[in-house]
Amino acid sequence: MLSFTKSLSRLFFKRCDRKPQKPYRYSVEILADIDIDWLVHCGCKGIILDLDNTIVSEDDRYLSPGAEEWISKAKFAGLVFFILSNGKRQHRVLYWSKRLGIPALSPAKKPFPKALRHAISYMRSYPSQVFVIGDSFHTDVMGAKITGCHCIQVATLPHPPRWWEIIAGRYLQKPYPQQREIWNFQE
Ligand SMILES: [Mg+2]
Repeated sequence: MLSFTKSLSRLFFKRCDRKPQKPYRYSVEILADIDIDWLVHCGCKGIILDLDNTIVSEDDRYLSPGAEEWISKAKFAGLVFFILSNGKRQHRVLYWSKRLGIPALSPAKKPFPKALRHAISYMRSYPSQVFVIGDSFHTDVMGAKITGCHCIQVATLPHPPRWWEIIAGRYLQKPYPQQREIWNFQE
């Protein structure tokens, strides 16, 4: 009986430990600016990563400087990744999924929570252990908010603007800093 009570209380306190704290909301210029040690220190276990204009520009012209190396380092630190892209060109998402060695899902229809929840359960994590990293407020930041994940918004890589970006882009995305280095993408 005593051991049963002990195991029950252990289970209860374990659950309490995992109660999500207030999610973090941060913004940085590029992915490589994020301190991996800080992520680990915050209890981060998994990262849901956006692809378009976060890692590579929509028109495949630019690459976020140091992004691939940063991902390798984060993997080495024990973080698990999942790519969620709203892009409909699946061959492109598949290419990046293979290149980075990260499972991917597209079109993810962010900020709707279905794909985000799928990624969270794939990573066997709680939302409070997951960071969503992306460039758009209405998809990545909102998706994180809806699912209770932490979020880091990066500046959007330069790309030809869509009609709605011409109207509302400045409210939803952070422009890429002019003085900042940018890499050309060569397939
Ligand atoms: Mg994006």
